[in-house]
Amino acid sequence: MIVKPKVRGFICTTAHREGCKASVKAQIDYVKACHHSDKGPKKVLVIGASMGYGLATRIAAAYSYGAATIGVIFDKPASGSRTATSGWYNTAAFEEFAKADGLYARTLNGDAYSSAVKQQTIDLVRKDLGKVDLVVYSLASPRRTMADGTVYSSVLKTVGSAYTNKTIDLKNNTVHDITVEPANEEEIAATVKVMGGEDWMDWIRALKEADVLEDGAVTIAYSYIGPSITHPMYADGSIGKAKDHLFASSRQISEGDTGVKAYVSVNKALVTQSSAAIPIVPLYISILYKVMKEQNCHEGCIEQMTRLLNEKLYAPQVPTDEEGRIRMDDWEMQPAVQEEVSRLWDKISTENLTECADLDGYHEDFYHLFGFGFDAVDYEVDIDPNAPIEGC
Ligand code: NAD
Repeated sequence: MIVKPKVRGFICTTAHREGCKASVKAQIDYVKACHHSDKGPKKVLVIGASMGYGLATRIAAAYSYGAATIGVIFDKPASGSRTATSGWYNTAAFEEFAKADGLYARTLNGDAYSSAVKQQTIDLVRKDLGKVDLVVYSLASPRRTMADGTVYSSVLKTVGSAYTNKTIDLKNNTVHDITVEPANEEEIAATVKVMGGEDWMDWIRALKEADVLEDGAVTIAYSYIGPSITHPMYADGSIGKAKDHLFASSRQISEGDTGVKAYVSVNKALVTQSSAAIPIVPLYISILYKVMKEQNCHEGCIEQMTRLLNEKLYAPQVPTDEEGRIRMDDWEMQPAVQEEVSRLWDKISTENLTECADLDGYHEDFYHLFGFGFDAVDYEVDIDPNAPIEGC
């Protein structure tokens, strides 16, 4: 099969097996070249391990500390004329590299919200690792199906009143105003159900009850805050309500009787399959990329997660803000970065888009998510779209 990108709105419906492998290899090579702290995780469960921050945490743990990793993913293999999802190819590639490097890596493919997948994960941990010492909760999902079949869908809307600001149409590379309508109470509650901390707590409870958590185990989930231009859409919007719940859940886990210390890490805004879907945010990200690259402080998911493990989560005293959150957005939120972003935001328009924003960088990262745009890959070569993942 010769595989080309097919972009529909903010997703690409095809993925390239060799390109995803090149992406995973580049992330592994980055981690291998970094200096590693002495202390780190040894047996890691990553829930939402196939893309973005979850995949990067898995790679950083495996290649910084030789950690054994179990990943939970929700991806599709290739079938007929359809390629697999990029998360599937990323996972197949990661397992291939990890095993060649003598690292334990196994993956379960299924709905992480379900109790069946929780039980399968517990069985696999017990059989192969005994216990885990780090649980990474990195789900980004549009919906959650409950045990009784009820489906909750998350929305990316404001809370209270509508919000109008600039956004980017990435298909035509134009800037225009968009008005985001407020979510109603039901939509907010559904978003909290999907992206809040309830399922995270269910996971920790289930793992604890099954006695597959090491003494002193740590768990971490990811959040975002960002500058005021994004607040109505994100921190103060429906997704922000879910993130508030996620943070409250971290406190409940830490204060509960499981003995597990829970953290929320506030990460940098980056191009991932999830962030591409949020109105206004992609324009902010493309300006942010330009500014952070110019100021030599730009990072991608792998740089963020390597720094998280090596400098923050396993530091003798975990550095947090006054609320207790780890701030991986520390470089993004530096005044020098935000002042320049704000200056460019005020003047950006279709006419000066390439002058004010790193559009090429945004597009490059977007295509990379699906395995396209890697120099080392010949996209004219006929490839087998099937990529095995042991046990999946
Ligand atoms: P992503 O879309 O790249 O990855 C999400 C992962 O969740 C994928 O591996 C996907 O397969 C998995 N997943 C989704 N539903 C699942 C299910 N039902 N069962 C099992 N796996 C499932 O997203 P991301 O941007 O890496 O987001 C991960 C976390 O980081 C989210 O909590 C997000 O809010 C947070 N975050 C993202 C950004 C950003 O800019 N991208 C910034 C800060 C925080």
